[in-house]
Amino acid sequence: MGATLTAEIIAVGTELLLGNTANTDAQDVSRALSGIGINVYYHTVVGDNPSRLTKAVEIAKDRADIIITTGGLGPTYDDLTKQTIAGAFGKKLVFNEDVAEQIRAYFRNRPLNMKMTENNLRQAELPEGCVIFDNGVGTAPGCAFEAEGRHILMLPGPPRECRAMLDACVVPYLRRLSESGIFSHNIHIFGLGESAVEDKLHDLMEQSRNPTLAPYAKDGEVMLRLTARAATQQEADELMAPMLQTVRETLGDLIYGVDSDSLENTVAQLLKAGGKTLAVAESCTGGLLSKRLTDIPGISGVFKGGVVAYGVEAKVSLLGVSPALIGEKGAVSSEAALAMAEGAREKFGADIGVGITGVAGPGPDSSGLEAGTVFVALAADGVNACNEPRLFSDRDRIRTGAASTALDMIRRLLTGIT
Ligand code: ATP
Ligand code: MG
Repeated sequence: MGATLTAEIIAVGTELLLGNTANTDAQDVSRALSGIGINVYYHTVVGDNPSRLTKAVEIAKDRADIIITTGGLGPTYDDLTKQTIAGAFGKKLVFNEDVAEQIRAYFRNRPLNMKMTENNLRQAELPEGCVIFDNGVGTAPGCAFEAEGRHILMLPGPPRECRAMLDACVVPYLRRLSESGIFSHNIHIFGLGESAVEDKLHDLMEQSRNPTLAPYAKDGEVMLRLTARAATQQEADELMAPMLQTVRETLGDLIYGVDSDSLENTVAQLLKAGGKTLAVAESCTGGLLSKRLTDIPGISGVFKGGVVAYGVEAKVSLLGVSPALIGEKGAVSSEAALAMAEGAREKFGADIGVGITGVAGPGPDSSGLEAGTVFVALAADGVNACNEPRLFSDRDRIRTGAASTALDMIRRLLTGIT
């Protein structure tokens, strides 16, 4: 990520979706941000619904350095922004006595028919550790906090209040940020779950402020994002280097790449560097491994091809797996996977052969093997290895997990890790 900050605006309010209200807050925020050199890449509008707001935030996290919400900071039951946003970043709301006192004072100066009610004090509950933006023209304060390498700002919905807060608080706050840049490294891990990764690095994650370290789980893999705030890339690199080193020492060969975007890319590079060729035989993955490999332009130099040998006859006729072996051990077995890997290697004349066979589910197969039972085998010069990864969940995830296991085995073979 470069030094230019990007922002996403999430306007919260069902009235915006119904067409009752035009989203002028987003327009005002965008204008203010472009004035200080921050690129707004997305405007999102979401109703007063916590689960959809959470989803919107999850998406925004992946594509913006700064997330600004408008609306839903009021005292009524449908004002859910603070709880939901805090929850999405694992923060608690804490009661702020100073803000409560300001709210009481606001009502003391109002006519009697505008009496404060208890729920007005809900506006004094704010995410732990946040910066508070005073509301000069209403009661709901705005706020800002930093989490997972992102800056999250929440502004009130009424346009007058939103505009006033933009000028008085948001622009000065963001101007300070954009003078420095946000730089990050993505550390890719395969073979360890998110909670296990977190467990190993818990103290580092919790105690660090700049740089910060945060985990993300996706497609059976874990990614750690290491993020630093600094004026230059070089300064950021210096800040990040010690933590990157600690993470490398802690996780060792579970890390398959830093800033490389996928297991298949890592494998493609290793194959090219080592001048090795690959062929695959897939049963339960139905070509997914071949698909992931052939997504990479220029892979033909190292990837010879693959077969989807789904039925027993195909395994026999296309890969030369012995019918007796299948009769004795079953089509889903380490023996069958190994024979498929050997067959692929031989038929395609490749240095490395892969064989994948298993039960993608949802139910058990005809022989009673549970969904998620998968054998992934590797055949190379002097190497015959088979893994049985523990996979579960739906067909998609089981197949992705099986293909990723194969890629990781190739990676380990090519880097000499056993
Ligand atoms: P309140 O304290 O008034 O409840 P709030 O922060 O909870 O403030 P909302 O309840 O979402 O904000 O909206 C309050 C008013 O502001 C409504 O009249 C709404 O139509 C208007 N409003 C909310 N969001 C926007 C927006 N993005 N653009 C323009 N007007 C908006
Ligand atoms: Mg409201």
